[in-house]
Amino acid sequence: MNTGVISETTKIRERIVRLAELLYLRGYAHGTTGNISVRTEGGIIVTPTNSSMGLLDPARLSFVRADGTHVSGDKPSKETFLHIAMYEERATSNAVVHLHSTHSVAISILAETDPANALPPLTAYHHMKVGRLPLVPYVRPGDMRLADEVRQRAGTYHAMLLANHGPVVAGKSLEDALAIAEELEETAKLRLLTEGRPVNALTAAQLAELDHHFPS
Ligand code: ZN
Repeated sequence: MNTGVISETTKIRERIVRLAELLYLRGYAHGTTGNISVRTEGGIIVTPTNSSMGLLDPARLSFVRADGTHVSGDKPSKETFLHIAMYEERATSNAVVHLHSTHSVAISILAETDPANALPPLTAYHHMKVGRLPLVPYVRPGDMRLADEVRQRAGTYHAMLLANHGPVVAGKSLEDALAIAEELEETAKLRLLTEGRPVNALTAAQLAELDHHFPS
């Protein structure tokens, strides 16, 4: 038995539970919304269906194979297929966070939102963490066409916003994915706070300077 691998998996599970609880406590994941996954050797650890992000149990997190087949733990989130679509297209991404966070959902609902880039580059940090954010057309929950829509964009974009639904982001690590999801939600909040007022979004030259100094 390889106890080193087991110990590492246990640490990942505890980390998922701790970070999910923080998201819940700060209002990023209400009710039973939101799901988190981490890609590990042999499969994906994902939060279970109908579970509160504030009350997860490390031992009961779901484990699925790369194709979504349930192996152990509670029944996986019904939105696991979104995570799998991201992993299949993004070899360097090892964690996915999906939220129904209020301000991001508000942006996904506004008729004026640009489908090519749902949030303007209001801050340097948003540009570096989130970048261009495509709006994925609305698909009813449970319809697998949503996975196709996500898959089509996942090779190019590590963050996207599902219309009338919420963000899906992928990161190199769990901490990375969380930081991206939080930055996206805070920028959505800034966008709504400045609604109706002229804003100075970063210029093309300022964005190019950032890309030069902080290549992704
Ligand atoms: Zn969802």
